[in-house]
Amino acid sequence: MERELKLPEAFLDRMKEMLGEEFGEFIESYEKPRTYGLRVNTFKISCEEFEKIVPFPVKRIPWVENGYFYGEDSRPARCPLYQAGLYYLQEPSAMTPASRLPVEPGDYVLDLCAAPGGKATALGAKLRGQGLLVANDISTSRARALLRNLELFGISNVFVANEKPARLAQAFPEFFHKIVLDAPCSGEGMFRKDEALSRDWTPEKSQELAKVQRELLLQAADMLRPGGLLLYSTCTFAPCEDEGSVSYLLEQRRDMELTDMEAYESFSQGNPAWGNGDASLKKCIRIFPHKMNGEGHFLALFQKKGATLTESRTLQGKPDKNTQKWLTEFFHEIGLKTFQGSPFDWTRVETRGEKVYYLPPVQANFRGLNFLRNGLYLGDLKKNRFEPSHPFALALHKDDIEAGIPLPLSDDRLPRYLNGETLQITPEEAPHPKGWHLLCPETYPLGFGKLVNQTLKNKYPATWRP
Ligand code: SAM
Repeated sequence: MERELKLPEAFLDRMKEMLGEEFGEFIESYEKPRTYGLRVNTFKISCEEFEKIVPFPVKRIPWVENGYFYGEDSRPARCPLYQAGLYYLQEPSAMTPASRLPVEPGDYVLDLCAAPGGKATALGAKLRGQGLLVANDISTSRARALLRNLELFGISNVFVANEKPARLAQAFPEFFHKIVLDAPCSGEGMFRKDEALSRDWTPEKSQELAKVQRELLLQAADMLRPGGLLLYSTCTFAPCEDEGSVSYLLEQRRDMELTDMEAYESFSQGNPAWGNGDASLKKCIRIFPHKMNGEGHFLALFQKKGATLTESRTLQGKPDKNTQKWLTEFFHEIGLKTFQGSPFDWTRVETRGEKVYYLPPVQANFRGLNFLRNGLYLGDLKKNRFEPSHPFALALHKDDIEAGIPLPLSDDRLPRYLNGETLQITPEEAPHPKGWHLLCPETYPLGFGKLVNQTLKNKYPATWRP
C-alpha cells in the first residue's frame, strides 16, 4: 500500500500485533485529513453565547462538552474573540483528559507537566476563580508560554511553577484534590499531525520515557490527598507507556485504584494484557484515530483510597495604603462592580516593588520554589497613579465593569486596535467622557485604552499583538 507518511517499521509491526484485523483501517486513517478543534472558555462565555457570535463555522465535538471542530480554512487565532481569551485552540482528542477530570470550584488542582496549557486552561476555567491551580512545567521557555495562555484565559487563582516534580512533591505532600499528569511521551498518537515525531521515534525512546512516567506517577500520587483523583494521560499507543505505567503505579501504591470515566461510544478500553493483567485496566480509555475524529490518546483516572478532609487555608493579607488608594481610584474610573463576578477581595492584594498582584485565595507552601507567577499581575504603581496590566484586562469579565466599549465583530477598529493604532470613539459609544476604558469585541474585554477628546489611546501591548 502506498502511504504519503513514512512510519517506522517497528512501530507498524507493533501496531499490527496490537490491532489485528483492525490494522488496515488504522493505517488508512493516516491518509485522512486531521481535524481542528477549539475549546470554549466557559468561565468567560457560555457555549450558547459563543455559538451566537462566532464568525466562522463550528460544529460540536460530541465527546467534549465545550469543544468544537472548525474548518481547516478558518483562521480562529486571527479573530478578536481569541485575543479576548474566549477559546483555546486544541486538537480534539487532547481535550479529553481535562474533560474527564471532575474539577469543582474550590478544589486545589495540580497540572504537573502543564505547558503550553491545553489542560491547565481547561482546569482553571472549571475552578471559576475559586481554590487553587498549580500549573508546572520543567522547561522554563515552555512555562513562559504556559503563563501567557493562562493570562489569556483570565485565570487569576494560579501559581505558575517552573520546577522539577520531585521538588513539588516535597512541598505538597497529600495536598491536592485533583491532579493531571499529561506525561512526556513518544507521541505515537500525533504522527499524523506532526510527522517529525515519527522520524525521531525508536522503541528504546519509548522505554526511556516509560521510566520517566513511572517516576512522575509516584510523585503525583504522593501529592494527592486521600479521596483525591489523578488523571494520567499520554498521546501514544505504546503499551509500555500506557497500561505498563498504570500497572506500575497500581503495584507500587496500593492505595491507588482505577476508576471509571464518562464514556463515549467510540472510545476503546484499556487492555489488561498490555499491562500486568489487572482487570481494572479496562477502565482506561484509548482513542484510536480510525474510530474517532481525532488523534491518538490514552487516559487513566485513579482515585486514592480514603476520605478527603475539607479544610480551608484562606489568605489574611492586607494591601499597603498607597496601593489601596491608587487602585481604588482606578476602580472608580473604570466603574468596577465585581471581579470575575465576585466582590474584589482586598486581602489578596500584594505589592512587590512597584508591581501589584492579586494572589490566589488559598495559602500554600510556595516558599523556595521557582515560579513565574503567583496569582494575577494587576499592574504597576506609578508616582501618583495605578497603571493596569494587560493580563488584568483579560481577567475582567463582561459584567464586571461599566467602562466597556462594545464593538461588533465586523468593526474594523478591532483589528486596528490589535495592531496598536489609536482609535476614534464617538460619545455614544463610550460610557464615560474620558479616562480608562476596555475595548470589547461584542461585550467581552480585549484590552485597555485611555479616552481623551474622543480619541482612544491604545494600551494593547506590542508583545501581545497577534
Ligand atoms: N499538558 C500540556 C498541554 O496540554 O498543553 C502538554 C504537556 S506535554 C505532553 C509534556 C510536558 O512535560 C512538556 O511540556 C515537557 O516540558 C514536560 N516534561 C518533560 N520531562 C519532564 C519531567 N521529567 N518532569 C516534568 N515535566 C517534564
